[in-house]
Amino acid sequence: MPRVVAITNQKGGVGKSTTAVNLGACLAQAGITTLVIDLDPQANTTSGLGIQRDRTAGTTYDVLLNGSRVESVIVSTDVPGLQVAPSTIHLAGAEVELAGADASEARLRSAMEGIQHQIVLLDCPPSLGLLTVNALTAATELLIPIQCEYYALEGLGQLMRSIELVRRHLNPGLEIGGVLLTMYDPRTNLSEQVAAEVRGYFGDKVFQTVIPRSVRLAEAPSHGQPITLYDPQSRGAQAYVALAQEVISRGRQPSTSF
Ligand code: ATP
Ligand code: MG
Repeated sequence: MPRVVAITNQKGGVGKSTTAVNLGACLAQAGITTLVIDLDPQANTTSGLGIQRDRTAGTTYDVLLNGSRVESVIVSTDVPGLQVAPSTIHLAGAEVELAGADASEARLRSAMEGIQHQIVLLDCPPSLGLLTVNALTAATELLIPIQCEYYALEGLGQLMRSIELVRRHLNPGLEIGGVLLTMYDPRTNLSEQVAAEVRGYFGDKVFQTVIPRSVRLAEAPSHGQPITLYDPQSRGAQAYVALAQEVISRGRQPSTSF
């Protein structure tokens, strides 16, 4: 059974897709076979890994709506050991099409059976709709990125309630694997304040590794490359390498529920 990590926060632009792409690359480069499943119609993870988002071959839309197995839509990336199940803009309609369908929350989980990768990362859209509920139902753990900005904690109560509901009704084993501080800027007091506030709220669930605000991280997706290929010496690359090590070592510890 792979570890299935849903990267989720219904707040937009907090670094979910950046983390899916770069953590995925760093896990693969550390020798962990990794699959990233793109569940966002924006398909930022798909294009960030160099895969065309308007391709006609299988996508996560087919997985959720046409009964395709995840395995059948997987494509390889430029990083050995890293594969992606791509998304497409058509997924935007899935939320509505899934509503009222049979077992609409558990479609991803069923379609993932038989996956051989050691870790699966799920990139979620910025909402708590059925796409995210499918991710929470399929996941063994959550990775919650939080941007070091004003209102960072706003909306987290809503996320926690959704997690609780999914635990109660769909996926009792779901855990918070870790909380990740993103876009940290050491020159501002604000970043420091937000980091302290988040650590106060989530305690040792917060990863030691903090992702710095870095232009190189923002540039890499337009080249269709993870940061470790685009600029392996950059601070952003080093941070995601360190995060991958933390994720790997947390996987070895006996789990403690949040
Ligand atoms: P959405 O909710 O829309 O899916 P998201 O949570 O996936 O957004 P990203 O797309 O990863 O967030 O990041 C939002 C924007 O911020 C992107 O333009 C990305 O390139 C940029 N960005 C992400 N992380 C960093 C960082 N550490 N430093 C600088 N820019 C970053
Ligand atoms: Mg995204």
